[in-house]
Amino acid sequence: MVATLYINGLWREASDGGSHDVQSPHDQSVVATVSQASQTDVLDAIAAARASFDSGVFTSWSFKERSELVAKIADLLERDADVIARKESDDTGKRFIEAQYDVADVVATFRHFASLGAKEHGRSVDVGIAHVSSRIVHEPLGVASLIGPWNYPLLQIAWKVAPALAAGCSFIIKPSELTPQSAIALTKIIEEAGTPKGVANLILGPGSVVGSSLISDPRVDLVSFTGGLTTGQTIMKAAATTIKKLALELGGKNPHIIFADADLDAAIDNAVTAAFLHSGQVCSAGTRLIVERSVHDRVVTEIVHRAGKIKLGGPNDESAETGPLISKSHLANVSTYVEKAIAEGATLLIGGERSDKAEHAKGWYFLPTVFDNCTSDMSCVQDESFGPIMTVEIFDTEAQAIAIGNDTVFGLSGGLWSGDSQKCARVASALRHGTIWVNDFGPYRPAAEWGGYKQSGIGRELGEHGLGEYLEIKHIWTNNAPSRSGWFKDL
Ligand code: NDP
Repeated sequence: MVATLYINGLWREASDGGSHDVQSPHDQSVVATVSQASQTDVLDAIAAARASFDSGVFTSWSFKERSELVAKIADLLERDADVIARKESDDTGKRFIEAQYDVADVVATFRHFASLGAKEHGRSVDVGIAHVSSRIVHEPLGVASLIGPWNYPLLQIAWKVAPALAAGCSFIIKPSELTPQSAIALTKIIEEAGTPKGVANLILGPGSVVGSSLISDPRVDLVSFTGGLTTGQTIMKAAATTIKKLALELGGKNPHIIFADADLDAAIDNAVTAAFLHSGQVCSAGTRLIVERSVHDRVVTEIVHRAGKIKLGGPNDESAETGPLISKSHLANVSTYVEKAIAEGATLLIGGERSDKAEHAKGWYFLPTVFDNCTSDMSCVQDESFGPIMTVEIFDTEAQAIAIGNDTVFGLSGGLWSGDSQKCARVASALRHGTIWVNDFGPYRPAAEWGGYKQSGIGRELGEHGLGEYLEIKHIWTNNAPSRSGWFKDL
């Protein structure tokens, strides 16, 4: 039996004894066995979070005290970085070194929110009356369900946990059932750092089973979710009944525009990274390449050449450059996406199938894939594949490049390459996406807000706004010289 649920300050087994084997996407070996929560466990976790919040055990801490806790968690994460990175790499199949980068980003996230929380909060408002003091204060929002995806499991949960703690919320963490180990490690550290019992709770299990109460229970005030568009829509509907606050980080179909006057060598290299890093399992992957006609042939030829040389391999293969897809069912989805693209008339230039190498036989390895002759009306251009698939479209004018880049229901991120700084400024301003990279693609920092326009989400994580998602704003008006209002006739 395994006791990997954390509820009200105690590690416990599932109440019905349920457990789940976590399989490596590299070779299907079992890398861990974890508890699988029952509905009773979910309700217990929500009750614990609610009770701890309402008791004031954590909300009574000052911002400064909570910031010290968040900073301590950053230190402990740094201490255990390699152990946690190993678990992350086992669960996701990503290379150990990539998981190490992820954990370093997680530490930076906790440090960012520690420093933000330590700042002065609230402000005075001049209401123009000498005997009235008017204060805007920030208070912890309440109980939050924090639901994360499998592609960057610890990082995406950290973007939620760190501000929730800095703000003084109580919460229930729910990682993807495919990748639970790093959330267990983080919860152990939250406990070790001295977080009051009931504040942090951990529920494991498939979203379709354990998710329902987390998104609809009236005792939950906020759902902060990172995942796919369809699940986001389910959450919005469920949350409507009790008007929960929502923070949604959903998918993206991110345009990557290359103008003919760009540094083409750098642009091509970054285009390959943007599309094939982590085998395309990145919400901000630059999988929609939009190239100026005059340089199309050179750009596409070089990308295809480089895509064919990318080395696939498992967590322990030091020569590997990217790893497997997360699961058999995800591989099936990506394969279906390819079949559809071919049926719609896109030209397959390379890849489009599973790797046939013997060492990949037990894993979910998919070859880097490039489709040319794509147009905006094709589903392969509009839908997120979340796999290593690049589609290529052509433009002739700046206005066309912008129109194509905005022709999507998503709006998470985009990039553009040009040697003309005025053109860069115009296009960056015209693209309706939450992050725009100019002559770059991919970097982010915890101090800068992250999130999507349109159907890529609601709200922002990171930056200052990322803390604001977990705070209520209260206006306190104090009249220091009380008098009658005099509005109605004398009684
Ligand atoms: P899913 O939407 O399938 O799942 C995300 C999380 O939601 C998982 O923990 C899942 O649990 C859970 N879940 C599933 N169904 C429900 C439900 N009915 N109620 C409550 N929780 C539920 O997304 P993926 O995990 O497949 O992640 C990939 C998606 O995430 C992509 O679309 C990607 O673009 C997006 N993403 C967005 C980011 C951003 O910053 N905008 C960052 C990273 C990813 P379980 O897996 O256990 O079933």
